[in-house]
This record gives sequence, C-alpha cells and structure tokens, in this order.
Amino acid sequence: MRVTGTLQQEAWARKEIPPVERVVPGVWSVPVPIPDNPLRYVLSYLIEHSAGFVLVDPGWDAPASWQALTDGLDACGVPLSAVTAVLVTHVHPDHHGLSGAVREASGAWIGMHEGEDALLARFSRPDMAGSMAGYLRWCGAPDEHVGQMTDGGRRTANAAMARGAIVRADRLIGHGELIDVPGLRLRAVWTPGHSPGHLCFHDETHGLLLTGDHVLPRITPNISAWDQESEPLAAYLDSLEKLRPLAPDEVLPAHEYRFAGLDDRLDTLREHHLERLKEAADIVGSGPARHTAWQVARQVTWSRPWSALSPFQHQAALGEVVAHLRHLRSLRAVSCAAVGGVGLWHPAGTAQLA
Ligand SMILES: [Zn+2]
Ligand SMILES: [Zn+2]
Repeated sequence: MRVTGTLQQEAWARKEIPPVERVVPGVWSVPVPIPDNPLRYVLSYLIEHSAGFVLVDPGWDAPASWQALTDGLDACGVPLSAVTAVLVTHVHPDHHGLSGAVREASGAWIGMHEGEDALLARFSRPDMAGSMAGYLRWCGAPDEHVGQMTDGGRRTANAAMARGAIVRADRLIGHGELIDVPGLRLRAVWTPGHSPGHLCFHDETHGLLLTGDHVLPRITPNISAWDQESEPLAAYLDSLEKLRPLAPDEVLPAHEYRFAGLDDRLDTLREHHLERLKEAADIVGSGPARHTAWQVARQVTWSRPWSALSPFQHQAALGEVVAHLRHLRSLRAVSCAAVGGVGLWHPAGTAQLA
C-alpha cells in the first residue's frame, strides 16, 4: 500500500484539515470538517460529467462544515448550482448531514442504496428507543449503559426530526448500476458491512475507486450488529472481496488520505477481523461457562483500556463484538442461548444450556 494523498497525510499528522485538491482532471477532493470528532473531516468528492457535477458525501451538518464545503467548491471554480447529483456512500451524519442543504441550494437529486433509505425510515419510528433497550439488555449491558444509550438515541432522533434533518433518497441506487449522468462511467458497488446499504463508487472513466468508510487507509471501520438478527461481519468480509477485481489505480476514501495498492489493504482488514474472531472465540472458551456479549467486549483488546472508553465507544465496541460472535456462531465455533431475555454465549459442542 502506498499513500498518494501525501498532502492529506501530512495534514493528518499535523492535526490539520488538508487542502482542496484536484485528484485528476475533472475530480476534486474537498475536506469538510466534522466538529469535535477524532476523524476531523470527511473527504467529499466532486466529479465532473458533461452536464454538471456529481458530489459524493457532502459532509456534516454544521455552519463551519457548510462554509468549508461551499468555499471548497469555490476553490474548484464550481458553482453549487452546477451540482446535479448528490450521492451518499451511507447515511452516517458525517457523510449525509449536508445532503439536504446541497439539494436545496442546487436542485440536485440525492441518491443512495435502499438499505440506507430504510435506515432513515427506521430512525424516524417512535419505537426505535424501545427496541434498542431490548437489544442492549439481550447483550447483557448494565442498566446505566442502557439508560444512557436509549435516552441519547431518543434525544438525537427527536432533534433530527424537529430540524427536518432526516433527508430521504430521491433515487435508489442498486449494485452494479451506472449513475445516471452523461459522459461519466460511475458505477455503484454495494458493500454492506459498516452500514447495510453502503455503496462504493467505481469511477471507471478515471480508474478511481471511492470507498466511503468501507476501506480506509489507517483505521478499520466499525462493523456492528445493532439488532438481534443482522450478521454484518460476513457481509463485510464478502464486500471486501467485491472490490479486488476492480483493480483501481487509486483509492479515494472518505476519511484520512488517498492511497494506491488496494489489495494490500484488503488483506490487512481481513486479517484484523480474523484475529478478532479468534480473540472473541478464546474469551468465550475461557473462564465462566457462559458469557454475555458485554462480558466478552470488556475482555477484548481495544486501542484503549475499557474503563477509558466513553459510553458511545462502549456501544461501538459492543456492536462490534456481537457482529464477531454472530459470525463465529455461523461458523459453528460458538453457540448462544437466550436465558431470561439475555443472550449467553458458550463454545459450540459444550453442554447445551437448559
Ligand atoms: Zn460511517
Ligand atoms: Zn465516516
């Protein structure tokens, strides 16, 4: 793997926002800050077609972010009114937050995968906090954590609805589809895992691959199960392999910096999850006969000690552990039994629970 966005990497090391850059003629990267977030910025991409521009992942919804986006377009010499399509890799607020504002200012349509539009619909449902609480109890999370997460989730959902910030798709984009713009071959690749409807965009015209949060050069994206059925890790590992045949000249991620040598990065990401699977299986096989997901999460090696993680980071870690346990279960390495509404994990093949 070789970093090609060297100005971006230098800015990253200095903890600064990188410059607007022309990646190749007709393609620009525009960093949009994410206030008070260690990721610091989203890289929005502007791509020219023969009747205007596509904007991918417009960024976080805050005044300073909007200013950075519009200043960035100015620096590219592109008026906002020339943007005809807004594409979102997924609807996390650091990517999709400004989509509605761009649509309003430009008249562009907003395109995403149906899996993301369904998430937005679910987010607007009044029973969302209740189903989150049930899931967290099933994970064995302590009451304090359940309270913090459901209250926080309810507040965020209410605030977003009050601001009219839940912006649904104008067009749904399926796997393999060419984006409906003239003179540009930009193809959607459905890569579920980090989010159920995550899309990468393969710019076949320029040999570039926009990877959103699916593949980043330095960090591994959070792969979390947020309900009692989904199995995102299997989907994620399959999605990594979907990219290999595309062999892009350069990878344009949504955070950090551009790079070449996609295959190396795919290998590293796969190895990371295989190691974590092994660690989770070892924890389930050790100590007490049965573990809740929360108990497993507390013992996994994270970048910082468990006690130093924030409630939101505990939540991300827990979701990640459930995703790994589910995958281990489908590999028949562990089993799970629900006892009194709590999921208890144990090694497969050991005495089944009553
Ligand atoms: Zn994301
Ligand atoms: Zn992101």
